[in-house]
Amino acid sequence: MKSVINIPHRVALIGNPNSGKTTLFNALTGLKQKVGNYPGVTIEKKEGKILFEKQEITLLDLPGTYSLTPHSPDEKIACNILLGKENFDTQPQAVICVVDASNLERNLFLATQIIDMQIPVVIALTMTDVAENMGVKVNAKFLSDLLGVPVVVTLVSQKKGLTELTKLMMNFSEFSKPSRRWRMQEGVENSIAKIQSVLEAKYTLRSPVAFLEALQICTTDEWRTNGYASMDDEGIKTIEENFQRIKYLGFDRRRVAIDARYSYIHSVCSQVVEKEITGQSLTDKLDKIFTHKFFGFIIFFGMMGGIFHAIFSFSEYPMNLINLGIQLFGEKIANIIPHGDFQDLLINGALSGVGAVITFLPQILLLFFFLSLLEDTGYMARAAFIMDRVMAKFGLHGKSFIPLLSSFGCAVPGIMATRTIENERDRIATIMVAPLMSCSARLPVYTLLIAAFIPPITFFGFFPLTAIVMFSLYIVGIVAALCIAIIFKKTLLKGKPPLFLMELPSYKFPSWKSIFIQMWERSILFLKRAGTFILGVSIILWFLATYPKLENQNTSQSERLEHSFAGRAGHLIEPIIAPLGFDWKIGIGLISSLLQREVFVSTMGTIYNIDAHRDENTTLIDKMRNAVNSETGEKTFTPLVAISLMVYYVLAMQCFSTVAVTKRETNSWKWAMIQVGYMSALAYICSLFIFQFGKIAGLG
Ligand code: GDP
Ligand code: MG
Repeated sequence: MKSVINIPHRVALIGNPNSGKTTLFNALTGLKQKVGNYPGVTIEKKEGKILFEKQEITLLDLPGTYSLTPHSPDEKIACNILLGKENFDTQPQAVICVVDASNLERNLFLATQIIDMQIPVVIALTMTDVAENMGVKVNAKFLSDLLGVPVVVTLVSQKKGLTELTKLMMNFSEFSKPSRRWRMQEGVENSIAKIQSVLEAKYTLRSPVAFLEALQICTTDEWRTNGYASMDDEGIKTIEENFQRIKYLGFDRRRVAIDARYSYIHSVCSQVVEKEITGQSLTDKLDKIFTHKFFGFIIFFGMMGGIFHAIFSFSEYPMNLINLGIQLFGEKIANIIPHGDFQDLLINGALSGVGAVITFLPQILLLFFFLSLLEDTGYMARAAFIMDRVMAKFGLHGKSFIPLLSSFGCAVPGIMATRTIENERDRIATIMVAPLMSCSARLPVYTLLIAAFIPPITFFGFFPLTAIVMFSLYIVGIVAALCIAIIFKKTLLKGKPPLFLMELPSYKFPSWKSIFIQMWERSILFLKRAGTFILGVSIILWFLATYPKLENQNTSQSERLEHSFAGRAGHLIEPIIAPLGFDWKIGIGLISSLLQREVFVSTMGTIYNIDAHRDENTTLIDKMRNAVNSETGEKTFTPLVAISLMVYYVLAMQCFSTVAVTKRETNSWKWAMIQVGYMSALAYICSLFIFQFGKIAGLG
């Protein structure tokens, strides 16, 4: 009988970015983590449980890393956990090393380092389908013999290799730990062994770990300041002496181990890879077009424009349907609950507030459908690639593009994805501008205002003005982000422009399942927010907009709203926002949406419902179109006011979650406050310019 003690309780998945770790993790644990077809999607470790024949183990999904010598914060997380530097309790007892068969040489660099650590390891060979499409066949059995570790071919889409992998994990103790199979020249080996023993003695390291650290020390000049400050003189002397000896033997100490490892890997690959010489792969052919200096941009912008158009037109029908449902629901409530304040609270407070936001669910779903589709097919990485040339001009890192693109969904994961950026200054610059990307929470605000106030004109038969305005709002955010980035990089975050190497994954047919999962998770998140935060704010707002009540029953709804707390608050800030073209009712919306942008829409829903005459059965859009200023009789909203307001929402912070995540990721309130400060100022100034110049130009 097997003893339970020997079963590893924690197993880590480790591998290069984009090698298929998270896909495997999901398949093994049944959990649904976000899967992305570009580097930097797994940014924190994730855990899941596997139950197999009554045994349980914990599986860790670590961020991707190219080697055990970390360069960026997320690589560091992976290495520290693996080496047990963070916390011994979380150190895994065994490792599944995920190796991408279509990039075998590069992936084996990390794999051989892990084998050097002499911990139980099994290799999961992924992407064999992609490799075969490239005309590359990897002999897994032979690879296993050469490396001295088990190799399992896994293909999640066909459920291949999963049971075998699980069984191996349960029986890790049955096979011996692997050992290093590559060698350097003998003299060099001896010198490295001496450095290794110094480290072993001084820091009580396991000898394979000390060996890897010894190799690491050799590669840098500033090794002493990099974690070895406490080294005594004798140790330093031994290390320096052995550096000299390696040099004397005719080797460059910085390269010697890397070269030896690569020549070993090269010989392994040449034995296990059977290549068919084929013509250009499909990916190469597609990349000729998609990454073309000219056509690449045309396609990129064309695609983005098409997506926004689609989001608009496809969502129309389901949105009307949801609206109808909400209306019917309201009528049901009116039938059941007697006329009075409570009915008013339910219908005009809670339902119209939450309803106004829920209407936008189809659009949010479509946005995430397209974002996931671009990501999963591999096009997103091409977009990053062509945009890198543009980004570099603004002093931003090419790696910034992914976080910025994610921010179109939501700035919170976008900001977290900046952890793949090695340089702290580049990272902070990216964090600073990420919230300027138009996120999904702005979509309801844009849509409401566009649908209400931008005329449905079409240019040349197929360029609708509404889609052009929507697209322009996104462009405003992008341009603002690039300009602000330049300013930061020239002032507070001065530094050299970084070098960028981007790998382009092969194009794939999208996995509908993972796209569906993302859309599902997003909609749950969206509905949760609507059901909790927005519901709460809507109810509070209803109270604030209803009380205190005017004694006189013959007053108009508008007068009553003006008399209420919310009305007074709106009036209070009116002098500040009037130059931007906003009246006190919009002011109420600005205040109530300070923590979450989409609350603006629910606020309009609540205010205009309270404000409207009861019997009038019109939509929010109609009510807003007909709204007039009670004093001057002018229309509250004109197309110019709507544009000024939308630009305000492009640029202003209005999101508490972003402030919190910026604080956490930069570890300082300073940067969070700078961010809020500059965004508010920018929003105010730009809206002011638009409204004032627009009026002079006679647009208002
Ligand atoms: P990670 O960065 O290592 O976690 O990689 P992911 O699990 O996020 O996978 C990156 C991309 O590769 C996703 O689009 C997956 O759907 C895809 N993928 C993962 N494994 C395979 C595989 O074996 N074959 C193919 N064709 N695609 C895969
Ligand atoms: Mg991952």
